[in-house]
Amino acid sequence: MTHPYLDLAPLSAARFASIEDRVARLLATEQDVVIMQGEALLPLEGAIRAAAGPGTTALNIVTGPYGQTFGDWLRDCGATVVDLPVPFHTAVTADQVRQAFAEHPEIDFVSLVHAEAATGNTNPVPAIGEAVREQGALFYLDAVASVGAEPVLPDAWGVDLCVIGAQKAMGGPAGVSAVSVSERAWARMAANPRAPRRSYLSLLDWKERWIDGGRTALLHAPAQLEMLALEACVERIETAGLDAVTAVHRAAAAATRAGAPALGGGLTPYVHQDHEAAPVATTLRTPAGTDASDLVARALRADPAVPLAAGGGALAGEMIRVNHYGPDAALGTVEAALKALGAALAETGTPTAPDAALETARTAWHGRTPSA
Ligand SMILES: *Cc1c(COP(=O)(O)O)cnc(C)c1O
Repeated sequence: MTHPYLDLAPLSAARFASIEDRVARLLATEQDVVIMQGEALLPLEGAIRAAAGPGTTALNIVTGPYGQTFGDWLRDCGATVVDLPVPFHTAVTADQVRQAFAEHPEIDFVSLVHAEAATGNTNPVPAIGEAVREQGALFYLDAVASVGAEPVLPDAWGVDLCVIGAQKAMGGPAGVSAVSVSERAWARMAANPRAPRRSYLSLLDWKERWIDGGRTALLHAPAQLEMLALEACVERIETAGLDAVTAVHRAAAAATRAGAPALGGGLTPYVHQDHEAAPVATTLRTPAGTDASDLVARALRADPAVPLAAGGGALAGEMIRVNHYGPDAALGTVEAALKALGAALAETGTPTAPDAALETARTAWHGRTPSA
């Protein structure tokens, strides 16, 4: 008996390069795309360590937990870090970024998370990119949670280092990731004596030994299962159309944001404004006195298949995450999540209106305004 995942031939350099080209097309970028053989934290950390050093002053925008991690890496590299914390129920604005530049004209690096699956917000990258260009700073973007759920356009937005992963809205594996790198970013890395070299974290190794060599010889054996899965994800998005894939994520967010309050148990969208809410995942705030982790545990007992989680860390008491991404960007998933939350609320003695919530969610999914 043959098994499709065993006895695989090694992935050729040509196939590897063609997958990079397909990812570049997905991002509509002319920049170099480097696919890295690890979870997205690999290029996220590699790009910061390559581009930032003791001479760097970084504006680190914190709209969720990843921003905190980036600040730690930047400080560890010796950079001076200006943190711009933004409350998790909202998004950062280009004005706030310009204000930070006015106060710290020496800023030459900006780190930002596009969409935060962990806090449910999404940031206005095109407008921020304009401000970053005016400043002349290098622009680093974590688009792991946004790619596939909303447009990610590094060239159009002036992003110099754009990191994506396959495991969220692309519906793929967590073991490969990619970063698009601008010429400016390569120059910054080349000038940084502390940039990782001869290291698994090194982007410069890929530049010098893979890209500059015409992409004929890989640095090491690639993870062929993950590469083939990434190729299949991109192919699926190409076939369905990126617009269609992002549209279902938007619809899932709209349906969840509309449906959850209609349950009647006091759940409200955690992110106040629709345009600041991430298409990849919806966060909900539990009413005072209702523990989010407890409600999620009850909901998962009612339906173990729904993609629900409590917020991380300090948010565990008040935040519920509905991870409607990839194959879960579907009306059926939103309906199942609402039913499970309704059952959990009912178990705690809260009267709920699940039928009204489902109807409201369906109406929002189909883009109609709910009837009065
Ligand atoms: C999911 C995600 C990552 C990847 O990290 P994991 O810890 O593997 O989930 C990175 N950045 C953002 C914004 C994410 O949502």
